[in-house]
Amino acid sequence: MNDNEWSPATRAIHAGEPCPSIGGAITLPIFQSSTYEYGGETDYNDIRYLRLNNSPNHLCVNEKIAALERGEAAIVTASGMAAITTALLHTVGAGEILLAQEGLYGGTHHFLSHEFAGFGREVRFFDAQDLSALSGLVDKKVKAIYVESTSNPLLRVPDLIAIAEFAKKNGLVSMVDNTFPSPINCTPLEMGFDLVLHSATKYLNGHTDITAGCAVGRKKVITGVTNLLNHLGGCLDPHACFLLNRGLKTLPIRVREQNATAFKLASALEGHKRLKRVIYPGLKSHPDFERAKRVLRGFGAMVSLDFDGSTAEADAFMGRLKLAFSAPSLGGVETLVTRPATTSHSGVKPEERVRMGLSDTLIRVSVGLEDSGDLIADFERALR
Ligand SMILES: *Cc1c(COP(=O)(O)O)cnc(C)c1O
Repeated sequence: MNDNEWSPATRAIHAGEPCPSIGGAITLPIFQSSTYEYGGETDYNDIRYLRLNNSPNHLCVNEKIAALERGEAAIVTASGMAAITTALLHTVGAGEILLAQEGLYGGTHHFLSHEFAGFGREVRFFDAQDLSALSGLVDKKVKAIYVESTSNPLLRVPDLIAIAEFAKKNGLVSMVDNTFPSPINCTPLEMGFDLVLHSATKYLNGHTDITAGCAVGRKKVITGVTNLLNHLGGCLDPHACFLLNRGLKTLPIRVREQNATAFKLASALEGHKRLKRVIYPGLKSHPDFERAKRVLRGFGAMVSLDFDGSTAEADAFMGRLKLAFSAPSLGGVETLVTRPATTSHSGVKPEERVRMGLSDTLIRVSVGLEDSGDLIADFERALR
């Protein structure tokens, strides 16, 4: 079932679901079968086999994600990194060059700066806050441009509209990791991006129980990514497809509630004497507040707190929180806190962290679905 007129809440429930339902089942069952009877397929990629990403569970969740991101097609993968690496290797060929935003998600950054060259590809990094240098980086070998729609953990929001326009003007494929805002807060394909990528481990699934990823875009592009994925082998298993499909059904309502709670928490903590700074794109004090209003429909549920004290005191504060677990990852129903200098950015040299504006006492909060009053009380108590 699919209908472009439906709002996101309706698409999340009904898009992609088989119609008529299979055996009358209201919820699509898990097709735990690695292979299917031969049906006369003539193309290798059409043979029904689990690694070829075409079980009924795949087809359903692919169509649902495409409907939510406003894309023609989508493909789910075994992790966010499987989606990102497969899409990059498909888009940028050997001998070609990628322009990539500085300060990307750690796994992506490491792949591009340490492993990409081994595949014969080259990367040139740019500062997404200053697009004036971009034109100087383009030459005939540059094939694509890659950004994140909200950066981690400083929550900077690049000018996505200008980046998509720049890509079009220069004939580049534009790619964006849309994990942090999720399609509820941002739909980059509608701004002119060619390819959207996700760690579906985060908001799309939302329940901290699987790793998954996806790529979304035009049908032809997604077919290319899928055919490469079929050989690289990063396919999602049907049980995880089922869980992801279940998580997606509540994505719009979860993200709306998490947006609201994050705004309340950030507003309540801003100006607290134990915090040097509260970083949230929905606060007027955030450097990208005006831009975020233009490119995001909601400000998201990630909040960063710069603790005023030593790193030991910052850790003690995190330990006093009763409702927030200290763990990396984000986007689930449970509130999580992490100190990026010890987790996501521990591989970044200290002087480089200073240059990025990332202090060692910065605490990143992924706001969950707990009651906002309870959460605020817990943070205020732990700060005292
Ligand atoms: C977590 C994350 C990834 C990697 O996703 P996995 O599912 O862990 O492979 C990529 N990009 C962003 C922004 C992430 O937060």
